[in-house]
Amino acid sequence: MTKCYICEKGLLKKQKVDFLLYNENLGKFDAEVCNNCGEKFFDEETSAKIDEKAKKNGLWGLEAHTSVGVAGNSLDIRLNKNIVKFLGVKKGSLVNIYPESKKKLIIEVSE
Ligand SMILES: [Zn+2]
Repeated sequence: MTKCYICEKGLLKKQKVDFLLYNENLGKFDAEVCNNCGEKFFDEETSAKIDEKAKKNGLWGLEAHTSVGVAGNSLDIRLNKNIVKFLGVKKGSLVNIYPESKKKLIIEVSE
């Protein structure tokens, strides 16, 4: 059995696991799971399948680099069309914004 590449203590066991991306379940995929830390490892072929499923489900390209712009006296941050589609927001949608830390901003869609 292979030792875990992360904790180097546990052993990897083949099993099918649910793959979650942005809290959406993409289905079950073959993985090697560590019996100590729980880390999951996917081979290249499976990773390609997961990517394909993510694209098919509109979960691709949701992470984006953007810069802060200016709108009147405020600063604004633009949301790309993939994020807009995934969140289901439109002009006038209500969101709740708060910092989780000095480096992380949370935007929750309220309706
Ligand atoms: Zn481990």
